[in-house]
Amino acid sequence: MSATLLVRGARVLDPLAPEARPAARDIAIDAERISAVTAPNTIAVAATAKVIDAHDMLAIPGLVSAHYHSHDTLLKGCFAPMPLEAWLLHAVPPNYPQRSREEVRARVLIGALEALKSGITTLQDMATVHPFDPAEVDTIAQAYDDIGIRCVLALQVGDVPGSRPLPYWDDLIPTELRARATVSVKRGGNARELIGRIEGERRRHAGRHPRLTWALGPATPEICSAEYLGLLAELSERERLRVFCHVYESKGNMAIAREHYGADGGSLIRHLERVGLLNERFTLAHGVWLQPEEIEQVARAGAHVALNPASNLKTRSGVAPVRAYVEAGVKVALGTDNSSCSDAQNLFQAMKLFALLAGEGGEKAFAAATVGGAQALGLGDEIGRIAPGRKADITLLSLRDPAFAPLNDAVRQLVYTEPGRSVRHVIVDGRLVLENGRAATIDEDALYADVERLMPALLADLAAIRSRNERLLPYVEEAHRRTMVLDLGMDRFRTL
Ligand SMILES: [Zn+2]
Repeated sequence: MSATLLVRGARVLDPLAPEARPAARDIAIDAERISAVTAPNTIAVAATAKVIDAHDMLAIPGLVSAHYHSHDTLLKGCFAPMPLEAWLLHAVPPNYPQRSREEVRARVLIGALEALKSGITTLQDMATVHPFDPAEVDTIAQAYDDIGIRCVLALQVGDVPGSRPLPYWDDLIPTELRARATVSVKRGGNARELIGRIEGERRRHAGRHPRLTWALGPATPEICSAEYLGLLAELSERERLRVFCHVYESKGNMAIAREHYGADGGSLIRHLERVGLLNERFTLAHGVWLQPEEIEQVARAGAHVALNPASNLKTRSGVAPVRAYVEAGVKVALGTDNSSCSDAQNLFQAMKLFALLAGEGGEKAFAAATVGGAQALGLGDEIGRIAPGRKADITLLSLRDPAFAPLNDAVRQLVYTEPGRSVRHVIVDGRLVLENGRAATIDEDALYADVERLMPALLADLAAIRSRNERLLPYVEEAHRRTMVLDLGMDRFRTL
């Protein structure tokens, strides 16, 4: 059999039919695809094939983070928990001066490296490029090419500046401070021009990056005009592009929706449906504050939800109605979100939180982190399972680890016990990108040195942003406090 890489003797865990003690298998990989999964020692391969001895290892499909942003990976650990709207003031790129190419490259690489070391093989990066600069897009795409992770890249763009993220925002924040209160778009834009720019980038990069897929990223409906969203829906339909969007992340989003979307009964979901976006190509990130009927509507439309339980807790946004999604049959994926609000590119944490909140055994969490993510990203036939014909995106975990000794129930221990510590090898697109826990594609030590060298400039800018926000924060906290006590008929801090 023709194979370039052979994984020998791994216990293969299938997300759709998990065995408690999975049988050992050989996995043959030919170029970027899996060519066979068979009983051990039944495949003869050429002497040129690389062989990985995976006895005492568990093979799982590479994990898929269906919601992530590369733009703030260098700010992990910088912030204590705070309301989403206060955190945005510190974290979004429009508040920072333009970053150097070196910093952009380093932040993409460090985020991707952390992801790989946690067994993630695909990231959905909603990247903010501000100010818009095609050379920065090139830097991001090149960094992904170099480290070898798979990426579905969506440029995060809105066209409505100066949005009010919370009720009471304008009443409470003094006029002279309001210009500082940028949580999203700084300058607006002509909807058609913005679409032309996004589409121009996609076309310019077409065919240049084998593991990179392009998608659309209207950041949140609130900062996008109906015209812009409608044009994105047309583009998505015409080019079969996936769309990723933050929807109902915080109670503030729900309260503002009730005021702004009168024509749609105050519902963001109805608004998204009216502009033509709510369909099987659409993934709403977070989805904490949906009403039961909105959850049903998402299920009927075949849209996906990417849940980010850790970041929702850190930004005091509440708890998504996890059980309701599962019961309604909504297609669920999991995300790791920003490094400055989750603060880890680690789906083991997300799987465990999801399983605990849903009150389930771990199977649904593992499926959401693999097949669910793959489907949300439009790669449902390509990745998410270890099977012949699929892309070879495989994470190998050591079973010689206390998390798996003894091996009683592989999926439950994967979700409830293993924190990501046992990730040994990671294969993406048939290539070994993490070998014995170390990057095989980039010089890790050089990257750590680069990060250290770049941080003083970033921290100086962060200090300036903190001091600029200092006078603003008491007003934001007060607007948040008043929003928290509003009766909107639902409480996502108490109900699951
Ligand atoms: Zn996000």
